[in-house]
Amino acid sequence: MDITEIVIEGDTAGIVWRLPVLHFAGNKAGAPKIYIQAALHAGELPGTALIHFLCERLRKAEAEGAIQGDITVVPHANPIGAAQSHFGEMQGRFDLGSRTNFNRDFPLISLRDRDLLIENLERYPAVDRLKRQLIHMALGADLVIDLHCDDESLQYAYIDEAFWPEASDLAAALKMDAVLLSDGESSAFEEAVSFAWKYEVPGEKKARLPGKLSVTVELRGTRDVYPEMATQDAEGLWRFLAVRGAVCDDSVHLAAFAGPAVPLDNVEMIRAPQAGTVLFHRNIGERVVEGDRLATIITAPGMPDGTIEVRAPQDGLIVTRVSDRLVRRRGDLMKIGSDKPSSVVRKPGTLED
Ligand SMILES: [Zn+2]
Repeated sequence: MDITEIVIEGDTAGIVWRLPVLHFAGNKAGAPKIYIQAALHAGELPGTALIHFLCERLRKAEAEGAIQGDITVVPHANPIGAAQSHFGEMQGRFDLGSRTNFNRDFPLISLRDRDLLIENLERYPAVDRLKRQLIHMALGADLVIDLHCDDESLQYAYIDEAFWPEASDLAAALKMDAVLLSDGESSAFEEAVSFAWKYEVPGEKKARLPGKLSVTVELRGTRDVYPEMATQDAEGLWRFLAVRGAVCDDSVHLAAFAGPAVPLDNVEMIRAPQAGTVLFHRNIGERVVEGDRLATIITAPGMPDGTIEVRAPQDGLIVTRVSDRLVRRRGDLMKIGSDKPSSVVRKPGTLED
């Protein structure tokens, strides 16, 4: 394992960020190159824990000569966000200086312009220098895995339809509960990587990208950071690397992915109609049917008629749930993966800002 460091000068005097990058060199020509990062949203740590245990396995494999494809790993991709604390609470999702989501505003370029990403970096603020160097590394790989987590959540992934169903091996290897099939071209990391591949010839969009994968994995909820879970997830990702030939392990055999693969249009974003104290009746992992009571919101505590009910708009699987119990009007309460398209029109791109 070789360790390099990306050094990012701060935008004010006296600040320097240091980002360790771990490299494993492959020994087989033609094996896929891998890029794995975690905690781009700086407080989302299940992936960082996974990577810690995966690297143990990779070092062992390296000693055995079993690394076939080059593997680049960034265990914690966002030192800038990790240092942001606002009145005692970590703010790892948005850059406080620019109010930009750390997982948006990645440059949408053609793969042929990859090296332009890191030309004249000093022209850009620290956050953009970080983003450009991350995506530059990712575009040197064939299989790109961006490890995030949701709030309270099952394990699921956003997978572009250009990679489906080939990528069902990743879902099977990690034992995902669900896959959400995306079609968008947002500026999120995963989609900016796919964009560069799709438009390798500018103006000529490739609809399918065989041999490639760029995916956002939501490794359950923010608090789902435990040694057994992380160890199992690391074994899961190892299995994926083995079936794709990036590492050599003949003992790995995957069963087919049996979970639901749901287009984003079929995701019901359950929102709070009014502000109040939310009392959930249903939890993640439960299947609901149309009309089931999901939550009661106490909108006027102590008053007669002081509550409203939130019900399931159609049948489906509860994939995520908000952890806050004070909800704002229109705040997200749940994502439900459903069999039919939602009647609520979705704006293109990501489900959340
Ligand atoms: Zn995230």
